[in-house]
Amino acid sequence: MHPARLWKPLKNGAAQCRLCSHFCRIGPGERGICAVRVNVDGELCTLVYDRAAAINVDPVEKKPLYHFHPGSRTLSFGTMGCNLGCSFCQNWSLAQPPREGRQVAGQEVTPGMLVAAAVEASCGSMSYTYSEPTVFFELMRDTAALARERGLLNIMVTNGFMSPECLTELATLIDAANVDLKAFTPEFYERVCQARLDPVKKNLARMRDLGWWIEVTTLVIPGLNDGPEELAAMAAFIADELGTETPWHLSRFHPDYKLTDRPPTPAATLETAWKIGREAGLDFVYVGNLPGNAHNSTVCPACGQTAIARSGFSVVDGPAPGGKCMSCGAGLAGRFGD
Ligand code: SF4
Repeated sequence: MHPARLWKPLKNGAAQCRLCSHFCRIGPGERGICAVRVNVDGELCTLVYDRAAAINVDPVEKKPLYHFHPGSRTLSFGTMGCNLGCSFCQNWSLAQPPREGRQVAGQEVTPGMLVAAAVEASCGSMSYTYSEPTVFFELMRDTAALARERGLLNIMVTNGFMSPECLTELATLIDAANVDLKAFTPEFYERVCQARLDPVKKNLARMRDLGWWIEVTTLVIPGLNDGPEELAAMAAFIADELGTETPWHLSRFHPDYKLTDRPPTPAATLETAWKIGREAGLDFVYVGNLPGNAHNSTVCPACGQTAIARSGFSVVDGPAPGGKCMSCGAGLAGRFGD
């Protein structure tokens, strides 16, 4: 149990959590929607400050970030808990147990231990990921500050449903984010995710204004968000509000958690979605979770040749130094270091 930040006291010992856009009102002894923040005698506390449920060294491509220091390693960790309740959750064993009343499990960690593990493993960055990092904000913030002191970059893999205050606190600490855009109708967010679309759209635009490198991921689910009009609306939003240089990752759905009544996304649907993204003017559209597909490498917008060749999550060639196309030398959008 650790004191939470970003909350305010209400009458009768209640507290309002201001960490995400649910803004839960939490009575004494109760937990918020994410079930990892609890009101103890009128004080809001977090149950996950010192509990990592998963820690791994990953290629940064696995986040997925394809234009952010390609080929580098990132120390990835997450606690249990999520502020969304998506029926299709692909990471439900970490994200959903607290909401189902189960134990908040994990190994004991400190920010110092996590940053030391990253340095030891020659990682260039920390990634706050796996579940939803917003709900382990205090651990993320302290770790990110320490990581920055040690010369590491900070990556957030998020559903984008944090509060404006949370984003303000993270503004200067985070370098890059992969943000889910799960669908483009308020109804989907409310019914399937138990959240709202509007805060996600606003936060995406604000992250761009903060100067974070942004890549967007959409899990394409048969019958739920795979209509051409909806995909075109998403692609237009990304192009118009975030910029045509923003990579869009179209990820293949597999039946999981509570959504087991439909098949994996057909390859043809992903191909159609890819075309829709390109027709909207997006320079970089990728297909994920579909081994061997044709849209995993980066094609240079200037010359049409392969600029970064990948096999799965491994970079096998490119880019040229400084993030330039291997063929024509044009600069690629992204953050590439020296
Ligand atoms: S993080 Fe969000 S879901 Fe969790 S208690 Fe705070 S406002 Fe509620």
